Parts: sequence; structure tokens; C-alpha cells
Amino acid sequence: MATTTHWDWSDPKGQRRLHTVGDHILWSYSALTVTRIAMSCEKAGKPHPYRDGRTKGANMMMKQYEGLQKNITNLDRDDRLAQGGSAVCAHFGCSAITFHFDHLIPQSKIKDDYIPLNQVRSCPRCNTSRGNKELMVWHRENRTFPSLAVLRRYLKLCYGYAKHRECLDDLAKDASKNGLPFDPVALPRKLPPLEQLVWDYAHPEFWPAQGEVT
Ligand SMILES: [Zn+2]
Repeated sequence: MATTTHWDWSDPKGQRRLHTVGDHILWSYSALTVTRIAMSCEKAGKPHPYRDGRTKGANMMMKQYEGLQKNITNLDRDDRLAQGGSAVCAHFGCSAITFHFDHLIPQSKIKDDYIPLNQVRSCPRCNTSRGNKELMVWHRENRTFPSLAVLRRYLKLCYGYAKHRECLDDLAKDASKNGLPFDPVALPRKLPPLEQLVWDYAHPEFWPAQGEVT
């Protein structure tokens, strides 16, 4: 199984400047989309279109999201995937006798708000280790990286919540101060090499097709 351990999370230099909450989410989402396409191509035994580097591809992808030629789509497909699959921990594929449900956006930070599909299956060890920490802060501290399926769902939840609260255009550095339940600056700016990434621990055989809408 591919490993997601030992990712140093150093923020890359020379990338585009990100200012707003929306900038940070869209950049992470663009990097994720490009990575997903590259992984799908490799899986199919074809060369992927980002041989010059995924950052360049992410820049082009982000323009499409900003121009609304592409959208962060709804969670229907994530919902279908969340229903099935093998009973393993969503964070690292851990086995366990019993599982907890872990909130991707901590419930303590959203208080009485309800966010659909905010829960993933978690082994007790990961759930306890994470506590109420933000998902990305927890990964940064442990130098690990989430599966792409978890990252995608998390980014969609963050985007949906920030849109609902009308703070996509707020400055990212003020977001936590303004009560947003996640720090946009902690979202990934760069993704690990393809061979270190896992799409979804619960669906090891599932790969989104190259042409599939993100
Ligand atoms: Zn676990």
C-alpha cells in the first residue's frame, strides 16, 4: 500500500499569492484536480498531461474555477462513496474492532450548525489523536497527508460552509478570527508525489475516470 507518511508540508516558494479564503480553497482544489487527472492517467498506463509540473497545471485549473468554467460540484458522488467500501479508518486505512465517527470540520467549531457528510469512519486511535484539531493542522503536526478522497470532501465542505457564511472573499489571515471553523492558510499548497498518494482507503480499487467531472 502506498504510504502517506513523512510529508514535510513545507510551503512551496514562487507560487501564486493567495489572499482570500476562496483563493486558498480553490488553489488546493485545483492542485487536487490536477493530481487526480495525473493519477488516473498513470493508472491507465498513459502519460499524464502535467509532465512539466503539476503547479503549472494547477494555475491553469484555478483560472477555470475562478472563471466559473468549472465548479466545485456537489457531494452526491462523495455521498455514494461514503456509504460503501471496506470498514477501515478513513484517515490511514487502519483496521479496528470498533470505529468512531470523526467530524472532518470539528463539531465544536460549528456548534449548532449541521454540515451533511461531515463525518468519516475513524479508528479510535486516530480519533483520539486528532481530538478537536483541524484536520490539516493534525496532518501538518504529524507530517502525514490525507487520502485524496478525504481531502476532496474536506475542501468541498470548507468551500460550501464559507460560501454559506458569505466569507469566501474575506482575507484568509482573518478567517479564524472571524469565526470560520478552519484555517484556509493550513490547506495544502502542494501535494506529495503521486506514488505517495492514496485515493481512498475504503475503496482501493476505485479510481475516478480521467474525464469524470470533479
Ligand atoms: Zn486510523
